[in-house]
Amino acid sequence: MARPCEARLDLSALRHNLALARRLAPRSRVMAVVKANAYGHGATTMARALEPLVDALAVACLEEALELRDAGIRAPVLLLQGAFHPDEVPLAAQHKLWLTIENATQLVWLERATLPAPLHCWLKVDTGMHRLGVAPEQIAEFHQRLLACGKLAGPPVLTTHFACADQLDHPATLQQIARFEQLTQALPGERSAANSPATLAWPDSHYDWIRPGFMLWGNSPFAAPHTAADTLRPVMTLVSRVTSLRDIAPGEAVGYGATWQATRTSRIATVTVGYGDGYPRGAGNGTPVLVNGQRAPLAGRVSMDMISVDVTDLPGVALGDPVVLWGAGLPVAEVAEKAHTIGYELLTRMPARVPRRVVIG
Ligand SMILES: *Cc1c(COP(=O)(O)O)cnc(C)c1O
Repeated sequence: MARPCEARLDLSALRHNLALARRLAPRSRVMAVVKANAYGHGATTMARALEPLVDALAVACLEEALELRDAGIRAPVLLLQGAFHPDEVPLAAQHKLWLTIENATQLVWLERATLPAPLHCWLKVDTGMHRLGVAPEQIAEFHQRLLACGKLAGPPVLTTHFACADQLDHPATLQQIARFEQLTQALPGERSAANSPATLAWPDSHYDWIRPGFMLWGNSPFAAPHTAADTLRPVMTLVSRVTSLRDIAPGEAVGYGATWQATRTSRIATVTVGYGDGYPRGAGNGTPVLVNGQRAPLAGRVSMDMISVDVTDLPGVALGDPVVLWGAGLPVAEVAEKAHTIGYELLTRMPARVPRRVVIG
């Protein structure tokens, strides 16, 4: 028998979440963002499930795109940061990858490239996040040079990215939308701005293409309750089982550093999952886990391969009982908050040691 720690993947939840994105943005095409191994879910498995249902995929770099091509994925794939080296430009054209152009160096690489086929480009403008993108005053020149270089399959898609779309009362998003409108209204070509929070909460940002990532995996990107986002269903449920049980006396401590001390006779369940499996070491005493579907608090430090849970108040816990670390019944955001991070990070850094298993939802 194998170690019982695994990440269960519910593809019906994935389809449900994608359907919500489509319902919210009915006039937009969908580019599903599967960068970073599909946020830890497994890029090829998720891309295969999404390919028939979306209009395009997006990844962070050429290596991630070629992994999808090697797996037989034929959908358009956008490189969100564009090329990191001039050699990547003809490779993108050869493999039918779409290329972001976001700075002058990338534009020159494209202008000087010898391409085996015309290329689809997305031209990114910096509307306020100040991470990637062409300065507003240069957008017209970039657009003109892209059309003039004779290497494009059509006018570039005009794109930008939001800094604060997950904060529903933040003024930056409407300012970025207004700037994007003003910069792009005189230019031909499609437009794209919306990530997951914008897909869910900023309909004026939907334009021709939405680019959801995190919401597809079934978790709300918002800290506060949100009517639409709270109907998403988690694709990944990280599960394990109780593998050891003991009763300890008041005053006895649990785990490395003896950071949790029993105040009464306590029943401690050991569960085989730890920071070596992506469970955050920063999750402190009291972080909830589900044992037999019921909440119980973490007791003591997270080890590399194990955690300890105080199950004193759950009658009848036995060896082999199922444990959920996050996913169905326990939002990853709740665990992430206890570990001072966000659900995006916990999902994305899931290590290869944890088997991914597709289940029928
Ligand atoms: C990662 C990324 C997205 C998706 O963001 P989510 O918040 O996960 O939906 C969209 N656009 C760009 C440019 C990105 O880098």
